[in-house]
Amino acid sequence: MDVPKQITCVDCGQPAYRLTYPPEDGWELGDYVAYRCSGCNDRWDLIVNEEDAADQMPTAPTIADEARRILESRIEEIRKKDSE
Ligand SMILES: [Zn+2]
Repeated sequence: MDVPKQITCVDCGQPAYRLTYPPEDGWELGDYVAYRCSGCNDRWDLIVNEEDAADQMPTAPTIADEARRILESRIEEIRKKDSE
């Protein structure tokens, strides 16, 4: 199962990025996933649920998705450096 790398913050409408790394065995129902809002810096702890599982629709990647993926990989690199 997969969870979104990015959600929209319900407070300010800015993208919130996933903080939690995927478990080795993949996400399971009931796992906690933390997101950090890029706008208001709020943290969101969500639980993987059936709805997320049903929500996975295969779509062709768009330019926006591509840009998001690059941005996220940069954020993850920075995070890795921070934790060293
Ligand atoms: Zn926010």
